[in-house]
Amino acid sequence: MPLVRDAYGFLTLPGTFSAPADLPHRVEAPSFDVWPTSAEVVERTLLGDVELSAEDARAHPGIAPLARAALDAWAGTPEPAGVHRIAPGVRVVPVRTPTLPPATQTNTWVLGEHELSIVDPASPWPDEQARLLAALRALARAGRPVVRILLTHHHLDHVSGAEVLASALGVPVLAHPETRARVAVRVDEELAPDAVVGQGIDALRCVLTPGHAPGHLCFARENGVLAAGDMVAGVGTILVDPDEGDMLEYLASLERLRALAPALLLPAHGPPILRAEAKLAEYRAHRLMREARVVTALAQARTLDALVPLAYADTPAAVWPLAARSLRAHLDKLVKDGRVRRVGDEWTLV
Ligand SMILES: [Zn+2]
Repeated sequence: MPLVRDAYGFLTLPGTFSAPADLPHRVEAPSFDVWPTSAEVVERTLLGDVELSAEDARAHPGIAPLARAALDAWAGTPEPAGVHRIAPGVRVVPVRTPTLPPATQTNTWVLGEHELSIVDPASPWPDEQARLLAALRALARAGRPVVRILLTHHHLDHVSGAEVLASALGVPVLAHPETRARVAVRVDEELAPDAVVGQGIDALRCVLTPGHAPGHLCFARENGVLAAGDMVAGVGTILVDPDEGDMLEYLASLERLRALAPALLLPAHGPPILRAEAKLAEYRAHRLMREARVVTALAQARTLDALVPLAYADTPAAVWPLAARSLRAHLDKLVKDGRVRRVGDEWTLV
């Protein structure tokens, strides 16, 4: 079964969700029963920071006051409709998007306590855009104005609501140059790796994490909360597509994130991830497990069509067209590693 590109240019399987922008669609509330409770998140992130050991406090002198300030802000007023508060300075408005199944939504992360940064407003649909705008205007009336929109990467299920929102709120859109080069959305400012946007507890540091997409950025708060874009997923899987992805870079980016020792990952799709380091290690191990299966399969087969059923025998045949894309990304990495040689459409072990 061949992959097709849907109305938004996404690689997808024929028959899976793919609706033109003017078709009616259902607005589904995410099932927050599978999300960690705010109390769990706070306990594992900010409360931990408040009770820093003397040694930690010396090593990170800025953290304790930041956490206390955020906790003070946390004990504030109820949230506007449609806004879900995950932790101090961390809110989310999930919006329905044409994304890769089984995910059906993209999380619009709303980061900050005083001046808000919006990460990946993504819905192409006017009713979803209006719902997000209403929620953000309510936050502004409560003294929390949006001051910027940040894009993690260029995929349409991350950027499609950015221009409308930027115009409505009169705020700039910021993205990495590689993202800017790939989007129709107006990007006002370019973000360099390690650039810091915002101030105090609202500050976010850009972490360059290519691999899923060129110029992919994650955004890190000082308290260990990290908006992870499509580096990890709370639901579904992360596709490393050989056309624009790079498995070698993706694995290096996973390691870069792990070195930051984040406390909480905020993925673009699905619930926040509490055991961040374990999840990042699991993602890396999973890719290396698959690579090992590809190497084993290469003892018996040389073409993509013959390799997929061997290397992905543990996955349903329905997803093999997507698996073939991932397989190509693995083979490209193995060629770069010098372990595999490519001649035409055949791959052999060196
Ligand atoms: Zn993506």
